Amino acid sequence: MEKLEQIYEGKAKKVYATSDANLCIVSYKDDATAFNGLKKGTIAGKGVVNNRMSNMLMQLLEKHGVPTHFVQELSERDTLVRKVRIVPLEVIVRNVSAGSFAKRYGVEEGIVFDEPTIEFSYKCDELNDPLLNTYHALALKLVTKEEVRTIENYALKINEVLKEYFLSLGVRLIDFKLEFGRLPDGTIVLADEISPDTCRFWDAKTGEKLDKDRFRRDLGGVEDAYREIFRRVTSGR
Ligand code: ADP
Ligand code: UDP
Repeated sequence: MEKLEQIYEGKAKKVYATSDANLCIVSYKDDATAFNGLKKGTIAGKGVVNNRMSNMLMQLLEKHGVPTHFVQELSERDTLVRKVRIVPLEVIVRNVSAGSFAKRYGVEEGIVFDEPTIEFSYKCDELNDPLLNTYHALALKLVTKEEVRTIENYALKINEVLKEYFLSLGVRLIDFKLEFGRLPDGTIVLADEISPDTCRFWDAKTGEKLDKDRFRRDLGGVEDAYREIFRRVTSGR
């Protein structure tokens, strides 16, 4: 399957049409942004790590009964996926306080929750992805009630599978962002990516951050962190 015209260029990926109207090719870039594009940079090798890692995780999730957009890895940066109509919600699951949660509620990072939390942001760059609740999402007709139920169930299932998987690699899964999409028949599937750009990973022993927070917070060692989490995922330890 070959790339035809570019349909979209986002902050981290490009999306191309293919000869099959139901499939597209996503191409992962090394470009990194934070704070809704205010901070820009590149992370050498990030596109390769995110592409391959996201594909491995999507295949793991498929095995556990979560349908995803993944079809086939085409090269180190390019993947064939089912083309979906993206549900304009960022679905954020948290196991431990960090980032905007800690800031918004004035608590420290690292508080372990008894139960995971789910929150939604309205995926809209012009509005800065505002936080919204289920009632708001329904009022704005972004999703139906049934779709919200499906999305929440998948999000919790994905959390269970990934939390256990990363713990086996000596990594705590702190929080992450998911995007879902609709197939032509309306079926909801997991789309976009699962990578160090979209998850917080803390080393279980040292607490070292192995994710994009190293870039966001100018902690240094950004490329090394992406390489290390990728090494663990590919080596299985
Ligand atoms: P952004 O749009 O936030 O800058 P990216 O650079 O990651 O993000 O661009 C990828 C775009 O492709 C995102 O808008 C994402 O919602 C969309 N997308 C992800 N998976 C699919 C898919 N299977 N079909 C269609 N669009 C997708
Ligand atoms: N996240 C993301 N894209 C976004 C916002 C958040 O992938 O546009 C991920 C982020 O990497 C983290 C989780 O979602 O793993 C929760 O992020 P948070 O709300 O704490 O936001 P941030 O700290 O990025 O402001």
